Amino acid sequence: MAIIDGKALAEIIKLEIREEVLRLKEAKQNIPHLAAVLIGNNPASESYVKSKVRSCEHVGYESTLIRKDDSITEEELLDIVKDLNEEEDIDGFIVQLPLPDHIDDSKITLAIDPKKDVDGFHPVNFGRMAQGLPCYLPATPFGIMTMLERHKIETEGKHCLVLGRSNIVGSPMSILLSRKAYPGNCTVTLAHSRTKDLTAETLRADIIIAAIGIPNFVSGDMVKEGVVVIDVGINRVEDSSKRRGYRLVGDVDYDSVMPKASFITPVPGGVGPMTVTSLLLNTLRASKKEIYT
Ligand code: NAD
Repeated sequence: MAIIDGKALAEIIKLEIREEVLRLKEAKQNIPHLAAVLIGNNPASESYVKSKVRSCEHVGYESTLIRKDDSITEEELLDIVKDLNEEEDIDGFIVQLPLPDHIDDSKITLAIDPKKDVDGFHPVNFGRMAQGLPCYLPATPFGIMTMLERHKIETEGKHCLVLGRSNIVGSPMSILLSRKAYPGNCTVTLAHSRTKDLTAETLRADIIIAAIGIPNFVSGDMVKEGVVVIDVGINRVEDSSKRRGYRLVGDVDYDSVMPKASFITPVPGGVGPMTVTSLLLNTLRASKKEIYT
């Protein structure tokens, strides 16, 4: 059994990016510049955005944080997006979701220029991904694909079960792993809240990608020996022994699944750190105009 250490892999990739930025600086070429828009005071969003900005600084990118109160109107936010689309100095930007209730998330996502959509959420990038064309991959699936690749995990002909069909994780994962490529060439089943007899599906899976948001949902008796488990879930469970009163667990019951798995990602320290790294890689691609000229 091997534990896939996402934190360590993310550090290696950040070092590689840092070296690339140094090369760009020496050659007096464009230094990647990422902007992040944060609306309101949601503590989780705040901590995600801070970590993204910190990571930019760590690898030598330029970064801009635009913070607005949650009283901002949809119109005002659309104006900010328009300005960022036009600002030549900004290579890519993200608008941290979720947005306040009075703002339509999808309207904002649609307003972002696909060329600067380094989160890979715009339907143009999603469509390009579905057709195997150059695109910005959504950050979490991109991070998972990188983990599979760097750990040389066999995927061809394997039966892969994706749990959860969200636009940002489950759905894109099902598309990417069924692509004619490596990692890919899997036979994919996409399971969701209406799936019947889920255990029959988990028991025949060679690879499980769990992205449903239910703590410790997948247990050891639901998986077969040798399974590869990628746990995307980030769930808070009460824990009075911790100073903050909770701890983070995944969608997989690590203790009972780990002894049966050939590879497994922990939570925290698995998929999470890779998500930020993918955003940095997309921003590098944006600055080099690798996807769109
Ligand atoms: P979501 O919360 O939008 O949707 C959950 C999905 O799970 C739905 O498609 C639903 O059909 C499915 N589902 C719910 N109950 C189910 C059941 N009993 N059986 C099978 N399927 C069921 O999904 P999301 O936004 O992809 O988030 C999923 C989890 O991943 C959350 O814990 C989230 O915090 C985490 N997440 C982590 C990262 C990361 O960087 N590690 C990134 C994104 C999301």
